[in-house]
Order: sequence, then C-alpha cells, then structure tokens
Amino acid sequence: MDETPAERPRTLVTGGTRGIGAAVARRLARDGHDLVLAHRSDEDAAERTRAEVEALGAACTLVRADVVDPDQVERLFAQAGPLTCVVSNAGATLHVGPLADTPVEVIARTVELNLTSALYVARAAVRAMATSRGGSGGVLVTIGSVAATTGSPGEYVQYAAAKAGVDAMTVGLAQEVAGDGVRVVAVAPGIIDTTIHADAGEPGRLARVGPTVPLGRAGDPREVADAVGWLVSPEASYVTGTTLRVGGGR
Ligand code: NDP
Repeated sequence: MDETPAERPRTLVTGGTRGIGAAVARRLARDGHDLVLAHRSDEDAAERTRAEVEALGAACTLVRADVVDPDQVERLFAQAGPLTCVVSNAGATLHVGPLADTPVEVIARTVELNLTSALYVARAAVRAMATSRGGSGGVLVTIGSVAATTGSPGEYVQYAAAKAGVDAMTVGLAQEVAGDGVRVVAVAPGIIDTTIHADAGEPGRLARVGPTVPLGRAGDPREVADAVGWLVSPEASYVTGTTLRVGGGR
C-alpha cells in the first residue's frame, strides 16, 4: 500500500485577510489547503487571519502586494512559489452615485482595481499553474459581482462594467488553458455583509438593500466562501468557463 501522504493544495488568495477573502481562507484551511494570503494594508487584519487559518492546521504565508501594480503582482507570485489554486478576490466599489457625477479618476481607479488587476493576476496564475509551463495544473477563481448583470444603475455603473469584464475574461481564458490542466471560473456575489459598502461611503446600504433581495437578507461572507470551496474541489472537475452567482436570487 502506498503510504505517501497526499500533497496539500497550495492556494493564493488576493485580498485574503478580511471580508470575503478571509472567509475563503478559513474555508480552504478547513479543506486542507496551505495558504498564501496577499494583502495591501491592514496589518492587524492580516495577523488575525493568519492566526485563524493556522489554528485550522494550514501553513500560511502573508505577502504584501498592491494588485494594481503589475510588478508587485509578479513579485507576489514569485514569493508564493508553486500553486494549485488562485483566488483573485481583491476589489472594491470605491464610490456610489450616477456615472455622470462620478469623477473620471474614480472611474479609472475602479476599472484598474476590478478588471485590469484581475487580468494581471489571471496572467500570473496561468503562468504558475499551466502544465505546459512547468506547473501542475490548477484552478483560478475570480470574484466578480452580480452587478455585472444588473448594471447597478445609480450606484456604480463603472464597477458593474469592470466586473462584466471579469465574466468575459473567465469565458475566454478557460478555453485558452483547458488543455493545460487549468480550470477558470468566477463567483459573482450579491450584497454581502462586509465593510465594502461603508468604505464606499454608504454605510446604510446593507440595511437598505438586504430586504429587497429575493431571499430577504444580505449574504454572509461564508456563503461565498463555500461556493469557492466547492469550485476548487475535485467535485467541480467538469466546471470551467462559467460564473456562479451567489446572490440570494438577485
Ligand atoms: P472588503 O473591503 O472587505 O475587502 C477587500 C479586500 O481587497 C481587502 O482584503 C483589501 O486588502 C483588498 N484590496 C483592495 N484593494 C487592493 C489592492 N489595490 N491591492 C491588493 N488588495 C486590495 O471587500 P469584500 O470582501 O466585500 O470584497 C471582496 C471581493 O468581492 C471584491 O472583489 C468585491 O468587488 C467583491 N464583491 C463584494 C460584494 C459585497 O457585497 N461585499 C458584492 C459583490 C462582489 P486590504 O485589507 O489590505 O486593504
């Protein structure tokens, strides 16, 4: 009987130390993954999440990286080493209001953070995991948004447009790398209870929008993390090139 222990999956999560990213880290730690958690700021949140996932038995490396900077993305992947999964989660709405009243620099920053950086991370993920490039295959999950299909009128059309780009990237890239052992999927959360809403200047958004969701409430970050946990598992081995909505019916 072969008694070699199975290798643990090694997963990089961007924005992995708070909100949905931290919930993904906890779920994957419970599922036996070792983790590389990328964060940009908030040292306290990073140390807290590291302690939580280590208590669940995962090895955890913290790396500081701003994902809008392609050089920092390259350095992040170089520091991460061999990977079997990448969860590209960093993102933010940044601003709430009609497009006509949104400053052009906010539009540029929103697209840069929610789409351009997702392309940088996807490029680096494929280079790390594709079998033809020396990787062992794997899974890329990008966190999109139901905004990609609702368009978020009056709130953040520029964010919705950027997240729609994530869905298109997922469809195209999945076909590019299907022969390379890499699955490419996206998860589109609806309204989820994190600080993203207050950070964009609308602290009351959860209480206002939650009851309008068909399931009658905002989602918990854990509910998004559970979808990611399934998508990266062997149970989802025939799922690629698609976006799974986790939006309570939105
Ligand atoms: P949070 O604000 O709680 O967390 C955002 C994370 O992204 C933080 O870890 C933050 O890092 C990281 N981040 C932001 N900008 C950068 C950057 N330039 N470089 C590196 N990391 C960065 O938000 P959520 O957890 O709610 O959001 C996670 C993802 O889910 C985002 O892509 C968001 O668009 C998406 N989403 C969220 C929804 C919601 O209702 N909450 C709904 C639909 C989609 P740090 O802590 O270091 O600042």
